[in-house]
Amino acid sequence: MRPAIIEKTPADLRQTPNWPDTAAARAAFSWQVEATGLSGLPGGGLNLAFEAVDRHAAGPRRSHVALRLLERGERRREVSYGELGRLTSRFANLLTTLGIKSGARLFVLCNRGLELYLGVLGGLKAGCVVAPLFAAFGPEPLETRLRLGEGEVLLTSTALYRRKVAALRERLPRLRHVLLYDEDNGAVQVADTHDLHRLLGEAADEFEVAPTRADSPSLLHFTSGTTGTPKGALHVHGAALTHYVTGKYALDLHPGDVFWCTADPGWVTGTSYGILAPLLLGVTSVVDCAEFDAERWYAILERERISVWYTAPTAIRLLMKAGAELARRHRHPNLRFVASVGEPLNPEAVWWGQEVLGLPIHDNWWQTETGGIMLANTAAMPIKPGSMGRPLPGIEAAIVQRREDGALDFLGDEVIGELALKQPWPGMFRAYLGQDERYRRCFAGDWYLSGDLARRDADGYYWFVGRSDDVIKSAGHLIGPFEVESALLEHPAVAEAAVIGKPDPILGETVKAFVSLKGGFAAGAALHDELLGHARKRLGAAVAPKELDILASLPRTRSGKLMRRLLKARELGLPEGDTSTLENPT
Ligand code: ATP
Ligand code: MG
Repeated sequence: MRPAIIEKTPADLRQTPNWPDTAAARAAFSWQVEATGLSGLPGGGLNLAFEAVDRHAAGPRRSHVALRLLERGERRREVSYGELGRLTSRFANLLTTLGIKSGARLFVLCNRGLELYLGVLGGLKAGCVVAPLFAAFGPEPLETRLRLGEGEVLLTSTALYRRKVAALRERLPRLRHVLLYDEDNGAVQVADTHDLHRLLGEAADEFEVAPTRADSPSLLHFTSGTTGTPKGALHVHGAALTHYVTGKYALDLHPGDVFWCTADPGWVTGTSYGILAPLLLGVTSVVDCAEFDAERWYAILERERISVWYTAPTAIRLLMKAGAELARRHRHPNLRFVASVGEPLNPEAVWWGQEVLGLPIHDNWWQTETGGIMLANTAAMPIKPGSMGRPLPGIEAAIVQRREDGALDFLGDEVIGELALKQPWPGMFRAYLGQDERYRRCFAGDWYLSGDLARRDADGYYWFVGRSDDVIKSAGHLIGPFEVESALLEHPAVAEAAVIGKPDPILGETVKAFVSLKGGFAAGAALHDELLGHARKRLGAAVAPKELDILASLPRTRSGKLMRRLLKARELGLPEGDTSTLENPT
């Protein structure tokens, strides 16, 4: 039997954590004191890219490797802070030459590669509001986002432009400039576009960063679309402090670290932690430009001497599926901290880390809206597998219920309610683009309501129950999909599990499960009944699924999140709604 808590010895930690004493650090924490870890602009004000790049480029870390890009075809390219400073200044100068003013919206539609980093960071230096887009989006989701975000400039590759954007161009009158580069370093000759590398070559190495302030808009992120149409969440330059503090305390980044965030910068995790946080802390960030491959990922951890790794449950599940044998062919002596975000991390996955990597996986929780990590299992804390951890220093969380009159009831330990965060914190979003009322509804007094249901235990650890839309009410019980899915995943045949509530005239709702199987297991009546029996034994008849379907795979967003709403719509014969972020649409 596995213990409910993973305690850590000093030897397990390998390095003194930045946040060694949880309670004392929380009491002593002050955003103002932490802000002294940033520089501020020379003339006053705050700019994310200045903090992430320029201050290091002009300081003792100028020769330190900022980015190590693992490019296609086994090419490897290292860019120092000094070089990144010059290249992003060139990009910012180029924007100014085109007449782009501070505040203009710059969309970045790039596969992972240096141009993406130059676009995001150079755009921020120029004072643009940067909106990263996922490169695998088709024309329709691109058009919706470019229209809603009123994109004025687009940075993309020739191939992506030809395939996805060229035909939309005349429907996007606000899009004034398109900057193109060829991913194979070929020439760019496309009508109505600019050649990025030619313009970069002509631009100067020095740029005076736009005088942005903590409350100036910086990034526009579209949510994952797990629960409905993606929302455009607008962030500010002040988020630099949230990224800095969370990189330090939640990811425990130290100056000598080699950090790898596996998320694509088309999503908020890939921007906040794949671009900004590691640079804000002056560490080396590894960027893998290729797609997931279990063998290669293990090789990257080993060969690149990754010390801190930030990934997601979907990737961990794929590694688990690939088998322990493959994992054991690699050694990771440098790896000392592994964290995960984006979806609930089932206890099975935490234990897999412990057994296969020799390190447990630290779950943490946040959203596009919060801009950075809010709850975390940190390096020094004992881990309770299945829990998202505790609020970080500077963050106050609560479990609440909104009353009819809009006021909040604060719920006690072990009671399920909505996870709320006390505002403000520096990285919080400032608007849902074009949806003011929806934005306002996220707040009640001093509190931001997340839309996720959770409970807190007596030790202050938070446990995810489900999205408020996904929680099932059956015969008076509130059933969280996460609990049922975690039980199903304990069965050796199950690779993925998702559960939904199905309307039922007597019970209100009944639980229906969908699973996909690991390699070597075949669907059939015997396995079907065995899985239902396993769930009943683990969960009891009131909570266990009454029905179960075995599918070849489950619908996910392109960022790897289970789309329960789609399973539900299909089950009930309802319209599928917005599927712009669906992976492998059929
Ligand atoms: P949309 O808002 O468009 O439906 P989304 O909520 O999936 O999409 P994101 O902002 O990318 O978009 O994801 C944040 C959500 O992901 C959280 O609200 C939560 O439901 C889920 N999540 C993130 N981290 C965790 C975690 N550690 N455990 C459980 N759920 C998590
Ligand atoms: Mg959301």
